[in-house]
Amino acid sequence: MKAPRKESHRRSIFDETMEPFYRAAELIKLHPRVRLELEEPDFEHIFYITIDARDRLVPLSTEEEAHFKDLPASSVKAGEALEPLANGQFVLHRRALLKADITLREGVLRIPRRGLFRIEKGGPKKFKAYRIQHNQVRGPYKGGVRYHRDVSLDLFKAMAAEMTWKTAIADIPFGGAKGGVRIDPAAHSKEEIEHVTLRFIYKLKNILGPYFDIPGPDVNTNAGIMAMMMRQYTDGATNPHALRGVVTGKDVRIGGSEGRLKATGQGVVYCLEEWARWRGTSLVGARLLVQGFGNVGSAAAEILHAMGARVVAVQDAYGTVHDEKGLDVPALVAWCHANPDNLRRTVAGFPGAPALPDDDFWSLDADIAVPAALGGEITGEVAERLRVKVVAEGANGPTTPEGDAVLHARKIDLIPDIVCNAGGVTVSYYEWLQNLRMEHWTEQEVHTRLERAMKSNYAIIRDIALDRPQKTPQHDSRPFAIGKETDMRTAAMVLALKRIEAHYLLEGFSQ
Ligand code: NAD
Repeated sequence: MKAPRKESHRRSIFDETMEPFYRAAELIKLHPRVRLELEEPDFEHIFYITIDARDRLVPLSTEEEAHFKDLPASSVKAGEALEPLANGQFVLHRRALLKADITLREGVLRIPRRGLFRIEKGGPKKFKAYRIQHNQVRGPYKGGVRYHRDVSLDLFKAMAAEMTWKTAIADIPFGGAKGGVRIDPAAHSKEEIEHVTLRFIYKLKNILGPYFDIPGPDVNTNAGIMAMMMRQYTDGATNPHALRGVVTGKDVRIGGSEGRLKATGQGVVYCLEEWARWRGTSLVGARLLVQGFGNVGSAAAEILHAMGARVVAVQDAYGTVHDEKGLDVPALVAWCHANPDNLRRTVAGFPGAPALPDDDFWSLDADIAVPAALGGEITGEVAERLRVKVVAEGANGPTTPEGDAVLHARKIDLIPDIVCNAGGVTVSYYEWLQNLRMEHWTEQEVHTRLERAMKSNYAIIRDIALDRPQKTPQHDSRPFAIGKETDMRTAAMVLALKRIEAHYLLEGFSQ
């Protein structure tokens, strides 16, 4: 497992994330009251949820094992009754004991072919949960739900604010929110995750809704979890079908949109296509580094691979694989995402390519880097080592302010997260529209709209950065120019703030 990043000198994540806000606010002389409205979230909800956890089978340490050498094997019902967890433990469902023949000593039993385990009692467990609603001047609060052991108020405040900027840049009528639960999903069963999800929505029920706050998927949450959220929210309502738009990222069979699953990765690719067109280069044969091989990273890699790019290395939380000739991406996707034995869905152990020491990943020679894991990975030190032409930020906040400064100084192009990974929330908006209208669009319709939106918003930001206001058949950057050049991240924020400020200036403040 990768060592955690050194964070000793970091300011709060929120403070760091707000730096481009203050830069852009200064540049455009943002109205002082609008500035106050946007500086802090509208609401910070922090609460606790409880569930009843099942008993566990916890593997013994090597020293402990010696003490139970002679313990005879027990015969228990395996399969689903002993549910394997990604942390090496098993959840012990009671049906495992049906017709079982068990030998227990000091709470330890031996399971054939699996080894020695101690039974650890389950019981009630408590988790800290969050929903931060940052701003809703442009439309209902919108933002993902993350299940992770490292979440905090600081992180969710930053991510909720970023959603406000992102929805404005995508030019969709939503505001910004974010939330989730401090939990390690690798240590919990499917049933426990379901219970956590249902309690989370139960507690939030009064402050969600298709016209108020609309969750979606983020790290460690997916279409299955969105389905549970929708059910919990709509159950018992007289008009449940009219409420489907309360969450996005659902399975297409229950009101999700075609193209949503890969929309964020697809959006990254549309930005890269527009970047390549502008730079007069081609993505065919381009060499790619991808960090994170979950929803975003694997979709971006798959699409780029199919277009003829070469994915030379992929890194995730557990390891790195590398092949200078280009990895077999479909085989890597199958290894990670369609392999029941690969519980951590990791690239580590992929038989199709050798492993690479994690530290060498960012130093590899390539054309494009797509960070698509967690925040803060491209530090100043990493940015110094990069040997790529462009960083396309699939993840939220993958580059630190120090990393930004180095990229800028080294003239490495940057496609900032708030535009680069906006494909997901853009198709979430299409999903919401389809739900409200009871429609179902084809994948082609979704892609045509998404491509136009991503490329034109990215081009507007580039024009702001280069101070080249222009109107083309695809985009019009003239209303957003600031009369001088700036970096891409500040330019993206300029676009967001100008679109948000217009609401306050034209609608006024109700008080
Ligand atoms: P995911 O849970 O599907 O995948 C996360 C991936 O990152 C996994 O492969 C994991 O192993 C890897 N990872 C975790 N910690 C790592 C580390 N320290 N080093 C290297 N790899 C690590 O998550 P996702 O939905 O693909 O989201 C990835 C990023 O994209 C997040 O920052 C998320 O906020 C952002 N994002 C996601 C969406 C979306 O639609 N899913 C939309 C916008 C932004």
